[in-house]
Amino acid sequence: MSHPLLERLGIAEHPRVVASATESSDRVVVSYSPATGQPIAGVRLDDEGSYEQTAASAVEAFKRWREVPAPKRGQVVRAIGDALREQLEPLGELVALEVGKIRAEGIGEVQETVDIADFAVGLSRQLYGLTMPSERPEHRMYEQWLPLGPIGVITAFNFPNAVWGWNAMLAAVCGDVTVWKPSLLAPLTAIATNKIAQDVAEAMGHDGIFQLVIGTDEAVGKRLVADRRFPLISATGSCRMGRAVGQVVASRLGRCLLELGGNNGIIVEPDADLDLAVKSVVFGAVGTCGQRCTTTRRLIIHESIADAFVDKLASAYRTIRIGDPLETSTLVGPLINEQAVASFERAVSAAREQGATLVVGGSRVAPSELPEHLRGGHYVQPTIFRAPGSSLPIAMEETFAPILYVFTYSRLEEALEMHNSVDQGLSSAIFTSSVRSAERFLSPSGSGSDCGLAYVNLGTSGAEIGGAFGGEKDTGGGRESGSDAWKAYMRRQTCTINFGEQFALAQGIRFE
Ligand code: NAD
Repeated sequence: MSHPLLERLGIAEHPRVVASATESSDRVVVSYSPATGQPIAGVRLDDEGSYEQTAASAVEAFKRWREVPAPKRGQVVRAIGDALREQLEPLGELVALEVGKIRAEGIGEVQETVDIADFAVGLSRQLYGLTMPSERPEHRMYEQWLPLGPIGVITAFNFPNAVWGWNAMLAAVCGDVTVWKPSLLAPLTAIATNKIAQDVAEAMGHDGIFQLVIGTDEAVGKRLVADRRFPLISATGSCRMGRAVGQVVASRLGRCLLELGGNNGIIVEPDADLDLAVKSVVFGAVGTCGQRCTTTRRLIIHESIADAFVDKLASAYRTIRIGDPLETSTLVGPLINEQAVASFERAVSAAREQGATLVVGGSRVAPSELPEHLRGGHYVQPTIFRAPGSSLPIAMEETFAPILYVFTYSRLEEALEMHNSVDQGLSSAIFTSSVRSAERFLSPSGSGSDCGLAYVNLGTSGAEIGGAFGGEKDTGGGRESGSDAWKAYMRRQTCTINFGEQFALAQGIRFE
């Protein structure tokens, strides 16, 4: 019997889905519910041969798709957005089922894909190039943006729908075809999502625009990254993955769009609205069970308010309902798997050994504290540590779990230095009512926050799609989603036309 959500989404009979599989093999990967530890279904894996077929068909599909005028491509994306709207609830629930985020966040994730589809529809009439005056008489100069090619999209487990959306919806209006390699921890969401897009595009007469390869990194991931037919590889995941992918793509002089790990901090000044700050820190630190790239991992708080603030945080943490992500009263679901629990436990031990003081949490949730059906799940307690001083080595790493490290400071300059001391540079925030402190954090000289995202009086996670999303330093430098992120999916051509009869050279060079 297939899971009812697979039936609702029309993928129970999908050729890739093996509903009865309970164990992974060379050919099938089983997707497990992190909430229960039970298998949901198996998914057939691609191998070298089927990868090759997909890549070759993407090249052919690109040749057809780029000939479709951009506003017409936008019509296809509009219809995909509408189809996703219709499936918002079951698809959001499948996200929650497969990766363990709570139902509201699962649905919110699909809403993000709907939003980026809307954005992309508008964009399909706004792929503007500049015109510039030529220095030569009777010459005209302008630039145009052209489709780039088939795009390889590699996604992480924790946003199994929206990260594809950010890439695929923009790539589609830009005239590109997407080949998506999802995480093997969330292949069912990928099949359901891709099917919606592919069905709509096919019904409108466009085959092969959205393709999927599901396989191991050895058989499929590395092959895609090294494949010269893909001028752009957009890869979301850990810094470790980004280093490997970045090197291979650079060695073939391809383009990379890297969206990697974060180690995000919030600075709280003594003049901040503390209620607002507490709510934002709690959501940022425990939302998605600490498994967002933008999760708040470090709180850097003025020493004069630290004790009272941490007390409030700890009280809030004690009221958090941990449990089944599909139950509406749950605020925190499970970690993705047992490896994630082990890395949570390693970080907790390291923090203790390095002299940090445990404030709240610190353990996995004992199976005896869980209802029977959740006892195979991977639940941990949201955790707060106070650092012994301004440095704590474990806090320099991204542990993909709900652990918040608290540091104190006396001067804002000191807080900024601590904030910027980590290798990653994704998201950052300050809570203050002082214009001076806020502007210092956002200083136009670049000496404030060193991150790609900087917020004042709101937390580090929950970005809107309208802005360009991404981070600096070890986060990889990529930008996706809004603003002019679309330019990554196109190639720029500078065009110069001589409409006169003179042979005129730039820089006044005479060659006669
Ligand atoms: P991961 O690095 O283990 O895997 C990410 C993806 O990369 C998977 O699809 C994986 O199969 C693939 N992959 C790994 N090595 C590869 C290789 N050598 N060649 C080709 N593909 C390869 O990450 P994860 O555990 O799935 O996700 C968590 C990480 O992702 C965290 O570090 C998180 O911060 C990051 N993340 C970043 C963003 C962002 O936008 N910056 C968004 C979501 C997640």
